[in-house]
Amino acid sequence: MDLEALEAVVRSAVLAAGARVLEVVLDSVGIGRRATAVVCSCGAHMRSAGVRSKQIQTLLGWIRFARSMYVCPCCGKTRYPGDEELDIVGVSRSPGVRRQVTRLGAKEPFREVSADLRELAGIDLCRKEAERIAETEGERMEAWMAAERQALRCQEPPPPQTPKTIETLYIELDGTGIPMVPHELEGRKGKQSDGSAKTREVKVGCVFTQTLFDDEGKPVRDPASTSFVSAIEPASQFGWRLYLEAVRRGLFQAKRVVVLGDGAQWVKNTAQIHFGIAQFIIDYYHASEHIGELCRALFGPDQKRIESYRDRWTDCLWEGEIETIIEQAAALLPKDPRAKPEARAQIGYFKKNKEHMRYAQYRKDGLFIGSGVVEAGCKHLVGHRLKQSGMEWTVRGANAILAARSVILSNRMEEYWEDRAAA
Ligand SMILES: [Zn+2]
Repeated sequence: MDLEALEAVVRSAVLAAGARVLEVVLDSVGIGRRATAVVCSCGAHMRSAGVRSKQIQTLLGWIRFARSMYVCPCCGKTRYPGDEELDIVGVSRSPGVRRQVTRLGAKEPFREVSADLRELAGIDLCRKEAERIAETEGERMEAWMAAERQALRCQEPPPPQTPKTIETLYIELDGTGIPMVPHELEGRKGKQSDGSAKTREVKVGCVFTQTLFDDEGKPVRDPASTSFVSAIEPASQFGWRLYLEAVRRGLFQAKRVVVLGDGAQWVKNTAQIHFGIAQFIIDYYHASEHIGELCRALFGPDQKRIESYRDRWTDCLWEGEIETIIEQAAALLPKDPRAKPEARAQIGYFKKNKEHMRYAQYRKDGLFIGSGVVEAGCKHLVGHRLKQSGMEWTVRGANAILAARSVILSNRMEEYWEDRAAA
């Protein structure tokens, strides 16, 4: 007895029988008198113009769906109320199939989506169709989140006496490059030797809360409290995206708000424009990398001096004594006039950012000083899916998959499908 063959055959038979049941059940949705009049977008009442059927791929296989077509006597537009009710307007895959394709498409290359669906769910779908379905659904997820942001943007902020129920709300942001198709890179400056670009920056933000501390007094992130946003878009747009995510997560209910990021200009601007009330902290590890760069700029090839000052100034940094670093470094400027500008620039970094590097104070206040959560987000949310070798993305395709991944990693997939079903 070949059990493996047998179970496959029985599964197919059961699915096929289920598909027939589904067809019968859906007949009552597609055809019959409607309780309310069908109205055209132009305002006129539409008339039933007979039954049309279409094929729909469901989790049980292909089924035939017969439904009434309505035509507008004024403008000639058509509507299929049955399709609208089942959330299959203009598409031939059921919500159940689309949900599975999107879930897999957010995780793995579309070729694998196609193979996995066939193997695991008995759903036949080519790579190209998997891509189209996942991207369309990702765009709908983005539209869903955009509508939510719009509603939050129009809301009055809560009155100041609103009880503060969140101990500390953290907002972290960062960027990471992904490989793009050539036409998305035209005219863009990049790090290639000829000045051209191979990648475009995905901006990633995360919001999480912190209430408790561990035995050593270090802050502990609240479990399952992290949500993500990400997109290829200008910083001004992304600033709003992240701000409204923070509002959704309780920005106005937080006793303390902390923004963590590297010292990149767009990161600082976003912190200033949208999170003026927050404590902005420059990620400690980025700052300590700048200590290394400062030492190399000052001491050139002198490895011994580089190491000795790097250790000394890293201690200063840890204690938040940035003025000490600045003063000592200014007295050690290289004699070589060609090396001076770089050394001054490195000192300038600390001058500009010193108020965001008071690490001793932050530690005393029980705050995180590293932006590890968003960096892990860059690796996981973006890197694992969008930076695989041989990949090339369009902005549209990348943003659709980023939207889907953000929804999934923020644990909002169920909420999204429930909202779709309710609509
Ligand atoms: Zn009309």
